[in-house]
Amino acid sequence: MTAFKRAVTQLISTLVTREERAAQVRDRRTVETYYEPHGLGVLIARGPCHQIALLEARLAGMARSVIKGLGAPLGVPEGREIADDRGMGELMFDFLTGSQPAGALTTQSTGSDSDTTPGQVGDSVVTAANPAGIDLDATAEKIAETLAETGVQCPVDAEWLKRQARITITVPALTLLDRNTGEDDDARVPGMVNGHPISPETARQLTGTGHSTLYRILTDPTDGTVLDHAAEAYTIPEKMRIALVEKWQFCTLPGCDRSAVKAELDHIKPFNHEDPGRGGPTSMGNLHPLCREHHQMKTDNRLKVTRSPDTGMLTWTLPGGHQLQARPPTNPIGQAHAQQLLNLTD
Ligand SMILES: [Zn+2]
Repeated sequence: MTAFKRAVTQLISTLVTREERAAQVRDRRTVETYYEPHGLGVLIARGPCHQIALLEARLAGMARSVIKGLGAPLGVPEGREIADDRGMGELMFDFLTGSQPAGALTTQSTGSDSDTTPGQVGDSVVTAANPAGIDLDATAEKIAETLAETGVQCPVDAEWLKRQARITITVPALTLLDRNTGEDDDARVPGMVNGHPISPETARQLTGTGHSTLYRILTDPTDGTVLDHAAEAYTIPEKMRIALVEKWQFCTLPGCDRSAVKAELDHIKPFNHEDPGRGGPTSMGNLHPLCREHHQMKTDNRLKVTRSPDTGMLTWTLPGGHQLQARPPTNPIGQAHAQQLLNLTD
């Protein structure tokens, strides 16, 4: 079967031109993630095979050095030796996930140029070197001067990382306290990373490690959704932000699957900066996560939203007048946890 598949792949590859193939592979490069139940995350990097092979070779080379005990190329100082019992796969994974993203960006000068002949490159204007009988080489040279490669790295600024590289780990209180109802691990309520289930064991290990802050979130025992608590300032307190993200999990416009983790928090009834008493309050009930695009559409009045004070349901009105309802997704993990708490009090 393997040989057959390889032959078919080779046959297909003979049917597309080399230019087509190279362009397809280059244009489709991307990184995808998906999450399986029980805490397994999968990262797929698609792209030109030489780049994938190079990455693999670098990771394997590092891992092999560790296994062979060759510390010097890895920067292990003299007088110390490697005593690490991780396997090849574990090491490759740990080196990859511990690495700092970096790359090169195309940038252009921000200085205003007095040249006026239009020859658009990105947003900058490049003058043809010889406008009458365009000198291609010289023009290309000028374009190259305007656009330059700039090396970039994943910022290490603590504030930036706090905003961008944040994950939310949710641990049911009983799991955190290790107060499970039975001896077997299956009885424990799992935790979550950005809404994806992880094992109780992992959740407990992650909590309190590194630069983490603990926030208490109260959930409704019947459906596991996050309960509201009030505040009256425009600035949204961190614990309210976390609770709102946990409550809604996604942008609240029905059908939008952008994660609430990166979303903006919108006042359903606008906050009144002159007279806070008259506008919409900064409360769990008046706030909801919206992705940037849908937040902008709401700001532009192309989307409208209202909230029913009785049910907490949101009613969206689309540009055509069509209406859609949104409610916080139920959370089976919160429900299971509530059941365990009840069992303890019996
Ligand atoms: Zn959205």
